[in-house]
Amino acid sequence: MLRFGGWGARLAAGALVVAGVLAAGAGEPARPPADPGAAPVFQQAEGTAPPAPDPAAAWAKWGLKPLPAAPPPPADKPLKLPAKGPVPVFSNVPTKDKVVFVTIDDGAEKDPRFVEMLTDLKVPVTMFLTDDIIRDDYAYFSRLQALGNPIENHTLSHPVMPSLGLDGQRRQICGDQRSLKRNYGTAPRLFRPPYGSWNSLTQQAAADCGISGIVLWHESMQINDMQYDDPKRLNPGDVVLAHFRGPAQLKGRTMTQMFAALLKQIGRRGFAVASLTDYVAFPGEPAGPTPR
Ligand SMILES: [Zn+2]
Repeated sequence: MLRFGGWGARLAAGALVVAGVLAAGAGEPARPPADPGAAPVFQQAEGTAPPAPDPAAAWAKWGLKPLPAAPPPPADKPLKLPAKGPVPVFSNVPTKDKVVFVTIDDGAEKDPRFVEMLTDLKVPVTMFLTDDIIRDDYAYFSRLQALGNPIENHTLSHPVMPSLGLDGQRRQICGDQRSLKRNYGTAPRLFRPPYGSWNSLTQQAAADCGISGIVLWHESMQINDMQYDDPKRLNPGDVVLAHFRGPAQLKGRTMTQMFAALLKQIGRRGFAVASLTDYVAFPGEPAGPTPR
């Protein structure tokens, strides 16, 4: 599976090579033209690779400046989810890296331009999907998954979990688990309770359905702005919430406009977007970097 860490560094290295080639060419002594009257002929040398894609151009296409590149994934994943005991609930991963983790919920809006945007920008996201909301177009989210973005559990029908008993909570989580595994090939390992509302039965039900972590959030993206737990502040390792929403829910703004505004706010604060799976070790997995 394609993963994102290090892409910025690789592109930067590619850009340096291209710059080096150009500099060497410019330094060569000019040959006298064979026929001073002939129009100059420019030929690309055989075997010359096409120029590396310019990340700044990809970002400019969406009206953005590139975000800082994410640092290399930690050698020891800082959040280790236990195999037993209550399923941990978290909204921040302990790290000093200036990174945040972007999560996108529900699945109502299925804007093809958003697939194009993530393909261009290679910003990693984690999707928390609700079966009732995505069932009219499961394939849309396969395209985002194919870019390396994991699909996680957000219940069958988006209830307030504490309003249900243990069996009802289990039906919601295990049901979504089965549908997502059938449609996307892998069973989710993370769960997000609708509205961020949960109780100890949610932890029990999540464990019974094979979930290892319950993910809340520190900041929540609205239409043009974010709501912060701390005033206007991102903290290293924060989980940021956004939604698959379109003009009907965003007062006429599109999903890609909302997401561009989110990235601007993250970039303005000097943060990079990292993959949650690079910082979270699941039970039975080594805590070292995920192989690429
Ligand atoms: Zn939701």
